[in-house]
Amino acid sequence: MIDSHCHLADPVFAADLEAVVERARGAGLERALVILEAANTAEATQAATLETIWPEVRFTVGVHPHHAQDYANEPARAAGAVRSQLTSTPSMRAIGEIGLDYHYDYSTPAVQRAVFRTQVELAREVRLPIVVHTREAAEDTIAILKGYGKKCAGRVPLLYRRHGPRRRGPGSGFLHLRVRYRHVPQVD
Ligand SMILES: [Zn+2]
Repeated sequence: MIDSHCHLADPVFAADLEAVVERARGAGLERALVILEAANTAEATQAATLETIWPEVRFTVGVHPHHAQDYANEPARAAGAVRSQLTSTPSMRAIGEIGLDYHYDYSTPAVQRAVFRTQVELAREVRLPIVVHTREAAEDTIAILKGYGKKCAGRVPLLYRRHGPRRRGPGSGFLHLRVRYRHVPQVD
Protein backbone atom coordinates (compact mmCIF):
# COMPACT_ATOMS: atom_id res chain seq x y z
CA MET A 1 0.00 0.00 0.00
CA ILE A 2 1.28 3.43 -0.95
CA ASP A 3 0.08 6.80 0.32
CA SER A 4 0.21 9.05 -2.74
CA HIS A 5 -0.38 12.30 -0.87
CA CYS A 6 0.61 13.07 2.69
CA HIS A 7 2.21 15.87 4.66
CA LEU A 8 4.68 14.08 6.91
CA ALA A 9 7.07 17.03 6.70
CA ASP A 10 4.52 19.25 8.41
CA PRO A 11 5.87 20.53 11.74
CA VAL A 12 2.80 19.06 13.42
CA PHE A 13 4.56 15.68 13.13
CA ALA A 14 7.97 16.93 14.27
CA ALA A 15 7.73 15.81 17.88
CA ASP A 16 6.88 12.18 17.18
CA LEU A 17 7.88 11.65 13.57
CA GLU A 18 9.46 8.26 14.20
CA ALA A 19 6.38 7.00 16.00
CA VAL A 20 4.14 8.25 13.19
CA VAL A 21 6.25 6.43 10.60
CA GLU A 22 6.29 3.31 12.72
CA ARG A 23 2.51 3.32 12.99
CA ALA A 24 2.12 3.93 9.27
CA ARG A 25 4.45 1.07 8.39
CA GLY A 26 2.82 -1.12 11.01
CA ALA A 27 -0.51 -0.49 9.31
CA GLY A 28 0.91 -1.81 6.04
CA LEU A 29 2.11 1.35 4.34
CA GLU A 30 5.16 0.47 2.25
CA ARG A 31 5.88 3.86 0.75
CA ALA A 32 4.60 7.42 0.83
CA LEU A 33 4.70 10.42 -1.45
CA VAL A 34 5.28 13.41 0.81
CA ILE A 35 4.19 16.85 -0.33
CA LEU A 36 6.54 19.76 0.38
CA GLU A 37 5.86 23.47 0.14
CA ALA A 38 8.57 25.14 -1.93
CA ALA A 39 11.01 27.35 -0.01
CA ASN A 40 9.72 26.13 3.34
CA THR A 41 12.96 25.43 5.20
CA ALA A 42 11.28 23.84 8.22
CA GLU A 43 9.60 21.30 5.95
CA ALA A 44 12.80 20.70 4.00
CA THR A 45 14.71 19.98 7.20
CA GLN A 46 12.03 17.61 8.41
CA ALA A 47 11.97 15.93 4.99
CA ALA A 48 15.68 15.17 5.36
CA THR A 49 15.06 13.67 8.80
CA LEU A 50 12.15 11.69 7.43
CA GLU A 51 14.31 10.24 4.69
CA THR A 52 16.78 8.88 7.23
CA ILE A 53 13.96 7.29 9.22
CA TRP A 54 12.14 5.94 6.15
CA PRO A 55 14.38 5.71 3.08
CA GLU A 56 11.49 4.56 0.86
CA VAL A 57 9.67 7.90 1.04
CA ARG A 58 9.61 10.09 -2.05
CA PHE A 59 8.76 13.76 -2.32
CA THR A 60 6.96 16.34 -4.40
CA VAL A 61 7.54 20.07 -4.17
CA GLY A 62 5.42 22.97 -5.30
CA VAL A 63 3.95 26.34 -4.45
CA HIS A 64 0.47 25.67 -3.11
CA PRO A 65 -2.25 28.10 -4.26
CA HIS A 66 -2.56 29.35 -0.68
CA HIS A 67 1.01 30.65 -0.95
CA ALA A 68 0.78 32.03 -4.48
CA GLN A 69 0.56 35.56 -3.09
CA ASP A 70 4.20 35.32 -1.98
CA TYR A 71 5.08 35.34 -5.69
CA ALA A 72 2.53 37.91 -6.85
CA ASN A 73 5.13 40.34 -8.15
CA GLU A 74 7.02 37.75 -10.10
CA PRO A 75 5.19 34.43 -10.57
CA ALA A 76 8.19 32.89 -12.35
CA ARG A 77 10.02 32.95 -9.01
CA ALA A 78 7.64 30.19 -7.89
CA ALA A 79 8.99 27.89 -10.57
CA GLY A 80 12.51 28.98 -9.62
CA ALA A 81 11.94 27.99 -6.00
CA VAL A 82 10.59 24.62 -7.09
CA ARG A 83 13.42 24.07 -9.54
CA SER A 84 16.11 24.65 -6.94
CA GLN A 85 14.54 22.11 -4.59
CA LEU A 86 14.13 19.61 -7.41
CA THR A 87 17.82 19.73 -8.13
CA SER A 88 18.90 19.63 -4.48
CA THR A 89 16.71 16.67 -3.52
CA PRO A 90 17.24 13.51 -5.56
CA SER A 91 14.13 11.79 -4.20
CA MET A 92 11.73 14.33 -5.74
CA ARG A 93 9.29 12.60 -8.04
CA ALA A 94 6.68 15.23 -8.94
CA ILE A 95 5.76 18.91 -8.81
CA GLY A 96 2.94 19.77 -6.43
CA GLU A 97 0.76 20.33 -4.91
CA ILE A 98 -0.04 23.11 -7.30
CA GLY A 99 -3.33 24.43 -8.59
CA LEU A 100 -6.17 26.74 -7.73
CA ASP A 101 -8.22 27.25 -4.58
CA TYR A 102 -11.01 29.79 -4.81
CA HIS A 103 -12.54 28.75 -1.51
CA TYR A 104 -10.12 30.76 0.58
CA ASP A 105 -8.93 34.25 -0.12
CA TYR A 106 -5.24 33.78 0.57
CA SER A 107 -4.21 34.68 -2.96
CA THR A 108 -6.17 36.36 -5.73
CA PRO A 109 -7.37 34.06 -8.52
CA ALA A 110 -5.24 35.91 -11.07
CA VAL A 111 -2.08 35.40 -9.03
CA GLN A 112 -2.98 31.77 -8.39
CA ARG A 113 -3.42 31.15 -12.10
CA ALA A 114 -0.08 32.77 -12.96
CA VAL A 115 1.77 30.79 -10.29
CA PHE A 116 0.04 27.56 -11.35
CA ARG A 117 0.94 28.10 -15.02
CA THR A 118 4.59 28.74 -14.35
CA GLN A 119 4.84 25.48 -12.43
CA VAL A 120 2.97 23.48 -15.07
CA GLU A 121 5.45 24.85 -17.58
CA LEU A 122 8.33 23.73 -15.38
CA ALA A 123 6.79 20.26 -15.09
CA ARG A 124 6.61 20.04 -18.86
CA GLU A 125 10.19 21.15 -19.16
CA VAL A 126 11.60 18.67 -16.66
CA ARG A 127 9.02 16.02 -17.57
CA LEU A 128 7.72 15.35 -14.11
CA PRO A 129 4.14 14.58 -13.09
CA ILE A 130 2.13 17.20 -11.27
CA VAL A 131 0.00 16.87 -8.15
CA VAL A 132 -3.03 19.11 -8.53
CA HIS A 133 -4.92 20.80 -5.74
CA THR A 134 -8.18 22.32 -6.94
CA ARG A 135 -11.08 23.55 -4.88
CA GLU A 136 -14.07 25.43 -6.29
CA ALA A 137 -11.90 26.12 -9.31
CA ALA A 138 -12.35 23.04 -11.47
CA GLU A 139 -13.23 24.91 -14.65
CA ASP A 140 -10.22 27.20 -14.52
CA THR A 141 -7.93 24.33 -13.55
CA ILE A 142 -9.03 22.28 -16.54
CA ALA A 143 -8.90 25.30 -18.84
CA ILE A 144 -5.29 25.99 -17.88
CA LEU A 145 -4.26 22.37 -18.36
CA LYS A 146 -6.13 22.15 -21.64
CA GLY A 147 -4.32 25.29 -22.71
CA TYR A 148 -1.19 23.21 -22.90
CA GLY A 149 -2.95 20.94 -25.34
CA LYS A 150 -1.86 17.43 -26.08
CA LYS A 151 1.55 18.09 -24.66
CA CYS A 152 0.00 18.55 -21.26
CA ALA A 153 -2.19 15.50 -21.52
CA GLY A 154 0.65 13.38 -22.78
CA ARG A 155 3.49 14.62 -20.68
CA VAL A 156 2.02 15.86 -17.46
CA PRO A 157 0.08 13.09 -15.78
CA LEU A 158 -2.09 14.19 -12.92
CA LEU A 159 -2.44 13.00 -9.41
CA TYR A 160 -5.67 14.66 -8.48
CA ARG A 161 -6.75 15.45 -4.98
CA ARG A 162 -10.35 16.31 -4.49
CA HIS A 163 -11.41 18.54 -1.64
CA GLY A 164 -14.87 18.88 -0.21
CA PRO A 165 -17.87 16.59 -0.24
CA ARG A 166 -18.43 14.38 -3.24
CA ARG A 167 -21.01 16.18 -5.30
CA ARG A 168 -21.57 16.21 -8.99
CA GLY A 169 -22.41 19.10 -11.22
CA PRO A 170 -21.10 22.58 -11.84
CA GLY A 171 -19.33 24.18 -8.93
CA SER A 172 -18.66 20.95 -7.13
CA GLY A 173 -15.20 19.84 -6.16
CA PHE A 174 -15.48 16.70 -8.25
CA LEU A 175 -13.34 16.42 -11.31
CA HIS A 176 -12.93 13.76 -13.87
CA LEU A 177 -9.91 14.08 -16.08
CA ARG A 178 -8.90 11.74 -18.78
CA VAL A 179 -5.16 11.68 -19.02
CA ARG A 180 -2.76 9.63 -21.02
CA TYR A 181 0.23 8.23 -19.24
CA ARG A 182 2.54 7.60 -22.14
CA HIS A 183 5.46 9.64 -20.91
CA VAL A 184 5.39 9.01 -17.20
CA PRO A 185 8.92 8.53 -15.94
CA GLN A 186 9.39 5.43 -13.87
CA VAL A 187 8.75 6.24 -10.24
CA ASP A 188 10.79 4.13 -7.89
ZN1 LIG B 1 -2.01 18.11 0.45
